[in-house]
Amino acid sequence: MLKIENLHIKYGAIHAVKGIDIEVNEGEIVTLIGANGAGKTSILKALSGLVKPSEGTITYDGKVLNKKSAQDIMKAGISHVPEGRRIFADMTVLENLELGAYQRKDKEGIKKDLEAVYERFPILKDRSKQAAGTLSGGEQQMLAMGRALMANPKILLLDEPSMGLAPILVKEIFSIIKDINAKGTTILLVEQNARMALSVATRAYVMETGKIVMSGTGQELADSEEIQKAYLGG
Ligand code: ATP
Repeated sequence: MLKIENLHIKYGAIHAVKGIDIEVNEGEIVTLIGANGAGKTSILKALSGLVKPSEGTITYDGKVLNKKSAQDIMKAGISHVPEGRRIFADMTVLENLELGAYQRKDKEGIKKDLEAVYERFPILKDRSKQAAGTLSGGEQQMLAMGRALMANPKILLLDEPSMGLAPILVKEIFSIIKDINAKGTTILLVEQNARMALSVATRAYVMETGKIVMSGTGQELADSEEIQKAYLGG
């Protein structure tokens, strides 16, 4: 479904991503784990057209993606929930959700998806007229995910959804991620919380300083002694 080959990303003199290969198949939850600065966010940004790779190819459903604009990538069915959520604080919850669908013309479909988002995140319905900036961290994460779902994506790119959340909310967010996937959306998840990420992942890649150093099923990596030492606290 999604294939990244020999991807390089440079920021001036900084070579952040150094020739990585990643594949995401339809229906999977694939996770990318690794320390701060390994290059995980850069890969998601390249996928959604926010940074241009210096080398390499990204194909999606057989079409080359890396020359397309961020808008066209979204239209093609890839939706990005960025690190730090990036919701519009002064706009209402509903306005934020509507923005997620701004490229769509199918009014009926949008209405149906709004209902589905409200059903998945009832708190967003309760707070629909409230300024998004007044939501708690967990609610803002739900809003960011809801906004991405309003584009009716085939693939959801999630960047650190658990960041800054209390453990009980982290569990909730991960159970929502599993459920979104079970209802048919393929997921590429970047996480620092390796334990939770591996527990939901079909497959996983481990990144260190711009390179993939290990890959396997979520279970294989969770069982690996090396991974346990480096990422799971022993
Ligand atoms: P984190 O989990 O901390 O977000 P990450 O694995 O997602 O880390 P990236 O954010 O992709 O890593 O960053 C990879 C490297 O590229 C880092 O060394 C970072 O400082 C650098 N970098 C990222 N964005 C830029 C930028 N716009 N300009 C210069 N350097 C950048």
